[in-house]
Amino acid sequence: VTSAFTERYPERLEATRERAAAAGLEAVIVTPGANLHYLVGYDAVPLERITALCIPVDGAITLVVPRLERLAALASPVHVLDIDLVEWDEDVDPYALIARTLGPLYTVGLDDDMTASKVLRLRAAMPDAEQRLAGVVLDGLRQRKDSDEIAALREAGAAIDRVHAAVPSLLRPGRTEAEVGADIAELIISEGHERVDFIIVAAGPNSASPHHAVTDRVIGIGEPIVVDIGGTMPSGYRSDCTRTYCIGDPPADFLAAYGLLQQAQDRAVQAVVPGVTSGAIDAAARDHLGEWAEHFIHRTGHGIGLLTHEEPYIMAGSEQIIDEGITFSVEPGFYVEGRWGARIEDIVVCTDSGSESFNRQPRELVVIDPRTP
Ligand code: ZN
Ligand code: ZN
Repeated sequence: VTSAFTERYPERLEATRERAAAAGLEAVIVTPGANLHYLVGYDAVPLERITALCIPVDGAITLVVPRLERLAALASPVHVLDIDLVEWDEDVDPYALIARTLGPLYTVGLDDDMTASKVLRLRAAMPDAEQRLAGVVLDGLRQRKDSDEIAALREAGAAIDRVHAAVPSLLRPGRTEAEVGADIAELIISEGHERVDFIIVAAGPNSASPHHAVTDRVIGIGEPIVVDIGGTMPSGYRSDCTRTYCIGDPPADFLAAYGLLQQAQDRAVQAVVPGVTSGAIDAAARDHLGEWAEHFIHRTGHGIGLLTHEEPYIMAGSEQIIDEGITFSVEPGFYVEGRWGARIEDIVVCTDSGSESFNRQPRELVVIDPRTP
């Protein structure tokens, strides 16, 4: 099986080698997760048994896999790439095998998401190799999306927009957050996602908790409802979008704050141009919130791609430069404990002259007439 990205993998592997050499690494070891998926299209199940893509700066690239995972590995684009497959049997020490495969090293970059037990076993097997994070090589590569990745994220954005477009029809007096959330889960799949990643339906005081999920609380009239939802598309790329709703009219002070939030979100999106710092995008939203800024208790956004949250993070004081092709969320909010909260979230890509938003649903507060049948 190959994917739309198959022809990209050789250039990604080559770029990894070049960046590793420039960073003073002699090899990079990648374990199952987004990095492995990105580099060779193998969306491997993370197990206690180690699977390791060994990328030396010079020499053959090797995928060390448990024998029982061999067919799964070969079902991925790995079989069409110039990668040696080395299987290990249950009675073999795979860490010694990896050390032998790579030969003596003084520096090695390890997948940032490798589990501690694997890191320590590799350290024991390669005692002369200084271990560093492979993120110094891979994060920069992954955060700048190519045209195929941008197309995949645009498709994900359109899919989650279709779900949000249907949310007002689900919000009826008497329903619980969990009931609405279950309907949303079905829509996330029927609108083209392969997997539901998360569903937040936070009504009334629950909307003051940014990562609330769903509860059996009945949604009341006049209560702001934060709906933040996302899933994974068959491409592997993810959606993540927040809109705020209300059945009936919300309190006047909420409405005033929401108006300010909508402007703040728009200002942050307008601030996106190649060369801007992540900190300046955050400030564009935060400064506009004025007295409400103290209730904006999280960063403005996060990178998105094969993971929902990845580099770069859009946060106060960050000097990280945003370049063309970097995709991230712009999601300011405000949260008043015991009362209510709100958030507006779009995924954008930095273009050659500004930004393109992958989410197009209206950003105004969506007020639903409680008498609608
Ligand atoms: Zn979100
Ligand atoms: Zn988000």
